[in-house]
Amino acid sequence: LVSRKKQPEDTVLTIKGVEFGGGEPLLIAGPCSVESYEQVRAVAENHVKRGLRVLRGGAFKPRTSPYDFQGLGEEGLQILKRIGDEFNLVTISEIVTPADLEMATKYIDVIQIGARNMQNFELLKAVGRLNHPVLLKRGLSATIEEFIYAAEYILSEGNTQVMLCERGIRTYEKATRNTLDISAVPLLKQETHLPVFVDVTHSTGRRDLLLPTAKAGLAVGADGVMLEVHPDPDVALSDAKQQVNIPQFNEIVDQLLASGLYK
Ligand code: PEP
Ligand code: MN
Repeated sequence: LVSRKKQPEDTVLTIKGVEFGGGEPLLIAGPCSVESYEQVRAVAENHVKRGLRVLRGGAFKPRTSPYDFQGLGEEGLQILKRIGDEFNLVTISEIVTPADLEMATKYIDVIQIGARNMQNFELLKAVGRLNHPVLLKRGLSATIEEFIYAAEYILSEGNTQVMLCERGIRTYEKATRNTLDISAVPLLKQETHLPVFVDVTHSTGRRDLLLPTAKAGLAVGADGVMLEVHPDPDVALSDAKQQVNIPQFNEIVDQLLASGLYK
């Protein structure tokens, strides 16, 4: 069902008037974790100033250590709902268990399935039964074929509102957090009709690589770029080292505009 052969034309999702996969690249930006209303609001205000419409923020955080901040849960989704309504932004947040899906659809516009859950087949089937947009991230060590089959799980249950996100894969390389598989973008665009995004924050794990990898992603045909921005990254409760602050984020937006790859 996800195959280009089956459907030659691109899938375009229109959410709150924003087109995903419609030809104009999007920036999906926001903090790693929703920490407070004020924190997300600071990012949202900047979004509006910069003409951005898509806000991300994690409420259920799949953390490596059980002792790390696990997210605000439903309260975090409520914050996203309030801010999404106030600023007319499309909101995206990760859900990690089928039990929370119905609840989440009341609060957020796009349900993210994270890398660690790309092959959580019961979760995939459950989002497949929803009538709600889904952003599916590539697994930490998933092949392109496995990634495409994961998307197929969702469509096979009836939900056609699916977008893909390359977020880097595990390799032997330690200079970056993961290895951004840039060729995944044109491959996924060739093989499937779904919108394809590139997460430059979790792939590189390095602030100094966000701009060049974002340009690379757009140059090879991504429908947009995801990156994390926090009003004060030093005190962030997750991914403090790799989030950029708002001025740094705006500099990246300016440079992307100047490159002509993003309008
Ligand atoms: C995220 O986007 O918040 C996240 C945890 O990313 P990933 O699932 O790609 O690691
Ligand atoms: Mn993060």
